[in-house]
Amino acid sequence: MVVASCPKFVGLRRLDNGIKSGSEVLGAVSSSSSASSSRGIVSMGGSGKFFVGGNWKCNGNSESIKKLVDDLNSAKLEDDVDVVVAPPFVYIPQVVSTLTKRIDVAGQNSWTGKGGAFTGEISADMLADVGSKWVILGHSERRHILGESSDTIGKKSAYAATKDLGIIACVGEKLEERESGRTLDVVSDQLQAFADSLPDWSNVVIAYEPVWAIGTGKVATPEQAQEVHAAIRKWLSEKVSPEVASKTRIIYGGSVNGPNSSELAKREDIDGFLVGGASLKGPEFATIVNSVTSKKKVAA
Ligand code: PEP
Repeated sequence: MVVASCPKFVGLRRLDNGIKSGSEVLGAVSSSSSASSSRGIVSMGGSGKFFVGGNWKCNGNSESIKKLVDDLNSAKLEDDVDVVVAPPFVYIPQVVSTLTKRIDVAGQNSWTGKGGAFTGEISADMLADVGSKWVILGHSERRHILGESSDTIGKKSAYAATKDLGIIACVGEKLEERESGRTLDVVSDQLQAFADSLPDWSNVVIAYEPVWAIGTGKVATPEQAQEVHAAIRKWLSEKVSPEVASKTRIIYGGSVNGPNSSELAKREDIDGFLVGGASLKGPEFATIVNSVTSKKKVAA
């Protein structure tokens, strides 16, 4: 039975607002830098759920991670959000066995293949074996501190996909690249390496993380983030398919915190966040997860 007067939603994707096909979605996307777009917030990809990841990086010990897990277990999290945390490798078993099943666990990296004589590496097989559902690949700290190339990141993605791990595929420009007007070229090249390697995009979330905003306290403005997110969706439409562009979630990362998350979340092509520093504090991370409510208000 259809209730004519109520908008229909799958997650946060409004189905009866002209969003019937990929091409209609992308017609709107190409003009979506306008905050007052009439389609409102309906571009939620995939499951239609907001997606928030916490990247704990190389932080914590057994005790602090126990406290963080306790805080997350007791936090009230909105339903329409996929929530994932990425502990340091050695703490993944502790987190998987103590964290609420409401939150999935990710690795922060994985090797290009099954394993073997690769000292210090962790394979996607191992991540899956200890209960990880996701892996972060292409993070700027791996690219720019550890020297990973897009080619290596592509190989890692291809292998992780064979183990059914969801991939949080990170892209983003350095400050000098932004200042010289090369943001979209850099991001497109990084996306192309993922596109060349991934068998499909069904289990992929793209994280747009401008390098100058990561760990610096210098967050992109909602307009800056929306502009690149819309461009990424357009790139997906043109280079992959309109359907993938419509369905793939594009999340923002770079100094997201409790206070700034709700304004960012309102932007139509911002489908969630990847959070570093603020994910180490359970209550603040919960606030970021729950910033989905500001998106729902705009969509209503
Ligand atoms: C990150 O590491 O992906 C990140 C976005 O870090 P921060 O939130 O600390 O800027």
